Amino acid sequence: SAGQVADQLGFGAYAVGGFVRDLFLYRVNEDIDIVIEGNGIEFAKTYARLKKARIHTYEKFGTAVVIFPDGFKIDIATARMEYYRFPADLPNVEMSSIKLDLFRRDFTINTLAVQLNAVKFGILIDFFAAQKDLKEKVIRILHNLSFVEDPTRIFRAIRFEQRFGFSIGKLTAGLIKNAVKMDLFNKLSGRRIFNELRQILEEADPTPAVQRMHDFDLLKYIHPELKPSAKLLSNFQAVKKVLDWHDLLFLDEEYLQWAVYLMVMLRQFKPDTTRAICERFEMASRYQVIFCEERYRGDQCLFWLRRNLPIENSKIYRELSEFRVEVLLYMMAVTRNEAVRKAISNYFTQLRQVAISIRGKDLQRIGVKPGPVYREILDAALNAKLNGRIKTRSDELNFVR
Ligand code: ATP
Repeated sequence: SAGQVADQLGFGAYAVGGFVRDLFLYRVNEDIDIVIEGNGIEFAKTYARLKKARIHTYEKFGTAVVIFPDGFKIDIATARMEYYRFPADLPNVEMSSIKLDLFRRDFTINTLAVQLNAVKFGILIDFFAAQKDLKEKVIRILHNLSFVEDPTRIFRAIRFEQRFGFSIGKLTAGLIKNAVKMDLFNKLSGRRIFNELRQILEEADPTPAVQRMHDFDLLKYIHPELKPSAKLLSNFQAVKKVLDWHDLLFLDEEYLQWAVYLMVMLRQFKPDTTRAICERFEMASRYQVIFCEERYRGDQCLFWLRRNLPIENSKIYRELSEFRVEVLLYMMAVTRNEAVRKAISNYFTQLRQVAISIRGKDLQRIGVKPGPVYREILDAALNAKLNGRIKTRSDELNFVR
């Protein structure tokens, strides 16, 4: 019915991009993008009204998001020719606006479109031989100035190549090498490089992409001394193992996967260098503390655990409870000590869930005078429970008596 709405308004409507690509790759993709020839915002408003959906519009870009009552979202964009400046040496050929919209995209495999208008519903549009490249499993840019126009596409090329098990086409690989030689990245802000790196580190298995970034000499844009050493690669693989373990056990615990990998990636650097990298990335300060402070404390804690294990659960709890999930996962991945890893995994699966049920008011009821002693008593009760000396609520009450 999106097509019918477009028909009524006299607009062309197409499903485009990753969604269509992933249909051909048998991959699930729930991000639907629609491009409208005409006025995308007007289309989105009409369509949302019909569907009783909410809508966010971005007038400046001619885009909108339609949010259905069940939370499902569709992105709507307007195909507009006038916003496109042709790279200087390309012939200024006539193109329909959908064709031009697709021509502005990063790679051929992302240029498929499906017509949504009623009379041509379901017709596949493939201006740039995307189906052929999907079959041949290659990542190709659409024209030779693509990386000059937008160097972040180089990181995207690696990300898609590794995600789909494709390979970057010969000409495209040559153009990447050229772009690196010409130092196009120096024009790119640290923030944009960080943004691309973060997306790579969010992929299911980022390890081969790090090797690829090295092949194209891109790691230097993170830091000149960064190399895919055997240690770094094996730590990356260890992160994947730990994250798989975590995700099986704690399905709905959310965490920043990229942050765990980035801690490992920056592990070789001293705090000053790490700080400088985070600054250049224009990383929000709520993230900077993870890399510049917490991860160093995590390493210190690993050292401490190695020297002091075995220790009672309550001590492990006190040491580990200050860390966020990301840092704990980092610690589990980088330690080479089996006992230390066990202690952290025991904290994860058991200790951190432990809590006592008695409160200050329970202490008041049995006649303890309020004061700092409350904290001490409750802490002692928690310790006793962590160490398995008490179990039930009545144990707790007996304990504090
Ligand atoms: P993902 O599964 O990672 O979301 P996607 O293909 O949907 O993959 P997005 O980053 O969401 O990727 O981008 C949506 C579409 O916008 C892509 O299909 C791509 O064609 C286009 N696009 C995104 N970034 C660029 C860019 N830097 N240059 C050109 N086109 C881009």
